Amino acid sequence: MNAKKKSPHAKDLVLLPLGGTGEIGMNCYCYGAGSNDDREWLMVDLGVKFGEDADPGIDVVLPDVSFIAKNRKKLAGLVLTHGHEDHMGAVPWLWPQLKCPVYCTPFAAALLNNKLKEHGLDEDVKVHIIPLGGKFKVGSFDLEFVNVTHSIPEPCALLIKTSHGTVFHSGDWKIDRTPTFGAGIDEKRLAEIGNEGVDALVCDSTNVLREGLSPSERDVAATIADIVKHAKGRVAITTFASHVERIASAVRAARANGREVVIAGRAMRNTIEAARACGYMPDAGEFLDEESFGYLPANKIMLLCTGSQGEPRAAIARIGEDQHPHVALEKGDLVIFSSRTIPGNEKEVALVHNNLAKLDVDLITADEALIHTSGHPRQGELKAMYEWLKPKALIPMHGEARHLRAHAKFAKACGIPQALVPLDGHMMRLCPGSLENVDEATFGRLHVDGKLIVPAEGGPAKQRRKLSAVGAVFVSVVLDEKLQLADDIQLLGDGLPPVLEDDLLDAAEDAFESMPRPRRKDDAAVAETIRIAVRRAADQIWGKKPVCKVLVQRA
Ligand SMILES: [Zn+2]
Ligand SMILES: [Zn+2]
Repeated sequence: MNAKKKSPHAKDLVLLPLGGTGEIGMNCYCYGAGSNDDREWLMVDLGVKFGEDADPGIDVVLPDVSFIAKNRKKLAGLVLTHGHEDHMGAVPWLWPQLKCPVYCTPFAAALLNNKLKEHGLDEDVKVHIIPLGGKFKVGSFDLEFVNVTHSIPEPCALLIKTSHGTVFHSGDWKIDRTPTFGAGIDEKRLAEIGNEGVDALVCDSTNVLREGLSPSERDVAATIADIVKHAKGRVAITTFASHVERIASAVRAARANGREVVIAGRAMRNTIEAARACGYMPDAGEFLDEESFGYLPANKIMLLCTGSQGEPRAAIARIGEDQHPHVALEKGDLVIFSSRTIPGNEKEVALVHNNLAKLDVDLITADEALIHTSGHPRQGELKAMYEWLKPKALIPMHGEARHLRAHAKFAKACGIPQALVPLDGHMMRLCPGSLENVDEATFGRLHVDGKLIVPAEGGPAKQRRKLSAVGAVFVSVVLDEKLQLADDIQLLGDGLPPVLEDDLLDAAEDAFESMPRPRRKDDAAVAETIRIAVRRAADQIWGKKPVCKVLVQRA
């Protein structure tokens, strides 16, 4: 019964999540086949998470893959389930540590290639393009992409067969039986796979707290078409840059009403280009660039743009501030926010809404009309997947702690014999036998800071957070041979109330003068005495202690 007491050479298949369990984002799931002293690894997805306000200057967070990097020779490859940032955004940053072949569908490859080019890696990374529904072998892993529906072209689930057992990795999915785009979810194949036998289902948990079924993209498209039909002025639609199906629906609505389509925002232009290169949107017609916006009559124009999450540099934010070089909206125009606000972005999104409202522009959000649907399964869809696959065990993924727990509970209530919540950095044996955590690995987060990767723990973000709250004081002291001041002490504040600087300078001078002469021989002692005095004085007057740096020089 107890796996920990099993022979270290017993062979099994384990799941080691390095990201994606306990947070939405940064997906990275490693499957290891073999014995615990000799495993072959398959990595599924390698995504980013966006930085939080608490970490100033950090736009992107990566999973720490050093455990796999150390075992790089045993890493057979990296499979990407689809082209979303939370599943492949970390590839250009972390591939140099892994140096393994990459496998994905044509559309994900087109997006990945753009990223690799930006990082100068497109010549180095070997990307194997696998057709939709393709079967392929990576190392000893027998793999198959299974079509699902989601919110980007070519979403795939991954069937993983090994000599130790069979796992179904769901990827991101929902059931949309009436999509407007793409191959649709392959219900027939899913049922076949279930009949062949699935030991474990590793499954998307994002929407497990919601009952019922997700609305279809077709209903969203119909709502958008209706809104555009009745609009009198200019229409702008913001959505996720990668949501090609939604973009295609918006374009159809424009064409049906004789509107030209203008695209604003590089990310959206890049996705559309990638989609067209893969043969999608063949009848969408020509798109115009931003410069054309001002020359078209109000009722003959639709703007498609980014910024649905309130990103301050995105097109819709700049339009709201009336700062966009080519695009302006006014009374009688309409902005459709065809997205949901990702938790954490509410303030930024509200700012954009309010700025547009000040311009007298009308807004429609997903609160008022069916202009957005999620790409993740609700309870009704999860149940259908369990019924197709009939897995012996469920491992929830792609969710915060509460989603994972709720998903494990839900699966058991639906009759799946076993369910266990995985933890980042823990190796869970999936098969044979019962689910159990059998080992641990190094895991954590890395920050992308400008062009560099830095540790999240003890990295520069923490110090910046402090600086942003209390500012900084720089003090320069020059001593002569007699251990007296060779010149006046210089003090510069940054981010301090201006009245404070004279008092802090007095405190620095008094502290130096009261130092016994022999102590002045020691640069570190001089610096520390002044630092303490300056911070104490600031605390007395201001109630805050700034960061203080003291430079001691000898004349
Ligand atoms: Zn996704
Ligand atoms: Zn995702």
